[in-house]
Amino acid sequence: FTRKIWPNTYRFYAREIGEASLQKVKIEQSLQKIINDKELVLHYQPVIDLMTGKIIGVEALVRWRHPELGLIPPDKFVPLAIESGSIVKIGKWVLHEACRQAKSWQDAGLEPAFIAVNLSAIELDQLQLINHVAEALHATGLDPSKLELEINESVLMQDIDGSTRILNELKKMGVKIVMDNFGTGYSSLNHLRRLPIDTIKIGQPLVQDIASKSDSSVIITAIIALARNLGMQIRAEGVQSQTQLDFLKQANCHHVQGFLFTPPLSAEHFLPLIEQRKTGTFS
Ligand code: C2E
Ligand code: MG
Ligand code: MG
Repeated sequence: FTRKIWPNTYRFYAREIGEASLQKVKIEQSLQKIINDKELVLHYQPVIDLMTGKIIGVEALVRWRHPELGLIPPDKFVPLAIESGSIVKIGKWVLHEACRQAKSWQDAGLEPAFIAVNLSAIELDQLQLINHVAEALHATGLDPSKLELEINESVLMQDIDGSTRILNELKKMGVKIVMDNFGTGYSSLNHLRRLPIDTIKIGQPLVQDIASKSDSSVIITAIIALARNLGMQIRAEGVQSQTQLDFLKQANCHHVQGFLFTPPLSAEHFLPLIEQRKTGTFS
């Protein structure tokens, strides 16, 4: 019996690994031409205001519409794009496309009020970043205060002085800064007040543990109090259950995002949602 199972299992894994590395090679090769070929697409996840239940903003999340492999999530190609440096070009496209989409929703009189774009460590280090942001805003006509840039906690904390310098440059332009995935890396709370950030976003792992681990509720309560005392906005991501939502509401969190409301959607699928929510609310 086992002799029958094991060879099959082995062949199954060998095939899986073979396919996985083949995919990796294919992805690396095609990264070079994905922008020219218009294979990138942005999906949008609403950010909900807990006071009003309305969509106050949206996070843009990149996907790759691969002709053979289908829709590839960022976790599968962004790390490769970072390795090869093509993330800079991709990021430039993302900025422009996100600003263009936000402006066109606003021109149509629709929510959301702001759009958030994710930046990788490499992009933050590039001198061109300031130009890319300025170009995207100028070309699309989006008001700078409507653009938020999300940067991971770990990236910002790695080099506080360097981060502060670049963030100050960005803030001079009028854009807002979000510290993404807070609570998933190691942060010195003392450094929080040195960084010019507007919003702290509590990462999914902490939010997931709200009901199951009492210490994560205590930590979240403390983070919310800290952020509010520092004059920052506080947002929770990865909200999947009513229990998590109820907790975040009573803990005075400003904004939430998560599958409980909706996963990220294509612009086409997002439009009916915001049209329908124009007068209605989520919670
Ligand atoms: P992130 O910025 O922390 O985005 C949150 C991720 O959680 C997204 O995954 C989103 O689809 C997912 N998510 C949202 N709500 C829920 C929920 O309730 N439950 C669960 N389990 N997941 C939820 P996604 O779109 O696959 O993006 C993954 C990461 O890829 C992002 O994490 C971000 O770091 C990176 N990324 C995405 N777009 C870009 C981009 O344009 N540029 C760069 N540099 N990185 C990007
Ligand atoms: Mg993000
Ligand atoms: Mg995040």
